[in-house]
Parts: sequence; structure tokens; C-alpha cells
Amino acid sequence: MTSSFPNAGEGDLPLRSREAALAVLLALRRAGHEAYFAGGCVRDRLLKIPPTDYDIATSARPEDVRAVFRSAHSVGESFGVMLVRKKGFIIQVATFRTDGAYSDSRHPDAVTYSDAEHDAQRRDFTINGLFEDPLADRIIDFVGGQSDLQNRVVRAIGDPRARLFEDRLRMLRAVRFAARFGFTIEAETAEAIRQGATELAGVSRERIGLEVRRMLSDPNRTVAAWEIQYLGLDHAVLQEPNCLAAPSRLSQLPDEADFSTALAAWLLDRHEATGGDLRAIARRWGKALMLSNDDMAGFHGSMEVYQTLRHRWSSLGVAAQKRLASSPGFEQGLLLLQATDRQAFIDIRRRVIALAETGLSPAPLLDGTDLIAAGLQPGPAFKRVLDSVYDAQLEGAIQHRDEAMTLARRLIDAMQSEGP
Ligand code: ATP
Ligand code: MG
Repeated sequence: MTSSFPNAGEGDLPLRSREAALAVLLALRRAGHEAYFAGGCVRDRLLKIPPTDYDIATSARPEDVRAVFRSAHSVGESFGVMLVRKKGFIIQVATFRTDGAYSDSRHPDAVTYSDAEHDAQRRDFTINGLFEDPLADRIIDFVGGQSDLQNRVVRAIGDPRARLFEDRLRMLRAVRFAARFGFTIEAETAEAIRQGATELAGVSRERIGLEVRRMLSDPNRTVAAWEIQYLGLDHAVLQEPNCLAAPSRLSQLPDEADFSTALAAWLLDRHEATGGDLRAIARRWGKALMLSNDDMAGFHGSMEVYQTLRHRWSSLGVAAQKRLASSPGFEQGLLLLQATDRQAFIDIRRRVIALAETGLSPAPLLDGTDLIAAGLQPGPAFKRVLDSVYDAQLEGAIQHRDEAMTLARRLIDAMQSEGP
């Protein structure tokens, strides 16, 4: 793993992170150890996409790694994984290992240090099980990863049922990699996922939520949603009945739509097939995926705005339209409408541009302190009066402070004559 630090600076980041990883690898070799680039970075290089991070697999034990890099520190010593800081990047250096039995369906009970071949075999998918010797410019392939990369296939290493069962999160990782690269999941691997789908429920909700977040944040999220449904994982992922709804809104969302908007699009797609109370379903999804407060707010907010735009927009007055158009979830809700009904989206966009000419959210002509200064007693009526005055301002019925004050007095008088 290489992560860029702020001090890694700008410039050719992929090249510089590779150089940093290469420097670490060279130092390990000079100390007499075997060392290769491993996993995702090798796969990405063969796919000609910039790797997100570099992992090194080595014969060096953690203590040997620390002897070469004084500053190396361990993350999970029991797994033999060390982090080395180099040229502003952090490189993950992991000792070749064989994973022992899994009793918690997520982590091996014990690991044994071993050799490169066994280390390849403990990895999840063949495309993730490749090593690269950058000095000899050679790929080391114990698992048939190169041909699977060429054929664009995600295939479990070894017996798919055993491998997916020992760490059930791999079922979602298979979907994520397949979607991200546009690969197919090899038939036996797919069948093992389908058969084990209910077992995913044993994985922590947090990990499931994180995988789904990564999948739906990616432009290829429609494929991920399809695969989840098609493999029958939706019940375990969302804690909802399985459903093969076409994720058509999801597919129409622009790439830059964020995770919570994508999640809302998917929910709306499924809701067309399943029915039910949207808000209640959204709350259940929030729990099932352990959404953060921010994600939850975006998820609910975009759907609320969408519903209003879809069903009530044209019945709203100018002030209500302006308030909606300047509310926090508006752009996301509008993306959902765009993915649903293009013409309605265009009409509303135009209307908002026209509304903006007179200000969507101008500074209020009056606030609470103005009312107090005018000798009025603060109370529960204040907010209602200020809201009505602001509505009149948004509608263009008043333009100046004195008009606003006159209106406020009239409203207060009317309220007082109505009695408490
Ligand atoms: P990404 O670009 O998403 O980081 P990656 O392949 O680097 O993809 P990581 O989760 O960073 O994925 O893991 C690094 C490598 O560790 C993988 O390529 C794979 O070889 C191995 N690995 C990660 N998670 C698992 C797992 N759950 N089971 C088996 N091997 C795994
Ligand atoms: Mg990685």
C-alpha cells in the first residue's frame, strides 16, 4: 500500500510512487531477501491503469524489515505486515505467508511464514495473485492470473467454495473488481457466490457497508448493482428481499454523482418493483450499511427533494420553489430527476435559472433583532412572521426594509387580534 502524503507534492504521482516502492524493494534485495511487487499494483500495471497503492511481498520477516528500515512500523504484526515510509509514500511490506484456518469467516486464526508460491495461493482472485519482479521486468504467475486478466475474468484462486466461505467478504470483493474493470465473474466462482450468498450476513455490517460504498462511488456502479442482485447478494447486503429490478436510474446518473445519490437511485429503482414506504426502507438501508450521518443526510435529502420535484414542483409557489432550489439536497435530488425524466429535469433547470434572476436566497430584509429593535416582544410568533416576510421578499412582493417592517407589523397585529 502506498498512500500519498501532503508532502508528496504534485507532479507525476504514479511514477513517483512506483519509484518509492522500487527503492524499498531494492533495499530488501540488497539485504539478501526475496522481494516482489504484489497483488493490485501488478494487476493495475498490466491493465495499464495507475495503481492506487503498492504492496511488496517478501521473504524478509518483520524483524528483518525493521532491520533494513528503522522507521518501519507494524500493522498487525501477527500477519507480518509492516509499513515503510519512503519519499513521501507509505509502502506496505508483507512477509510471504500461508493463512491458517478461518473460524470467524473473515480472518485466519494464524498465519505461517512461507514462500512466494504459497503467498500467491492465499490471495483471493487470480488477477490479485500476481507478483512482479521490476528489476528483471518479469511477471511471476503461480495462479494463472495473466490469462484471466487477458480474458477479463475474476476467478477465485483454488476451490471457489472453500475460498469464498473462509472469508465471505470476498463475495463482495469479486463483485467490486468485476464491476470496476468490466470483467465477468468466472462461472464456478459466480456459482459459489450464489450458493453462499446468505452466508455474507455473517460479515460485519461495517465491512459490507464499506464495500458497497466503494462500489457505488465508482462510475461502473450499475454493473455492481446488477451483479449483487443477479448473484442473490442483495438480501444479505441490504437486508431486503431479493429483487431483480433493472437499475435504470442508477445507469443514467452522471459519473460524478456521489455515493448517497447513487444509493438513492438504486433504492428508487428497486422500489418500483417492491413498493413499500420509501422512508422506512431508506432507514433500514442506512442500518444495514451502517451509513455515516453525512451519507444518511445525503441519502434522505436527495430522495425528499426528488419526490417533491417529481410530484409537487408545479404546484409550489415562487417562494417555495426558491427555498427548495437553494436547499442542501437540491442538486442531488435534481440528478435523480435527470436520471428518471429528462424532460422534467430540463424544465425545472430552466425554471430555476429564471427564478435565480430575482435571487434564489437573497439576504433577508428583516431578522429577529430588527423586530426586537422595533419594540416587539420575542416569542414563538417571531419565526412565523419572519418566514412570511421572507416569502413575500422571495416572491418579489416587497423589496425594501420599510415595506418588510410594515408587513411584519401587520402580521403581528393580525395574530394578536386572532388571540393566543
Ligand atoms: P485496490 O486497488 O482496490 O486497493 P487491491 O487488489 O490492491 O485493490 P487490497 O484490498 O488493497 O486490494 O489488497 C491488496 C492485495 O491483498 C490484493 O490484491 C490481494 O492479493 C490481497 N487481498 C486483499 N484482501 C484479501 C482477502 N480478503 N482475501 C485474500 N486476499 C486478499
Ligand atoms: Mg490496494
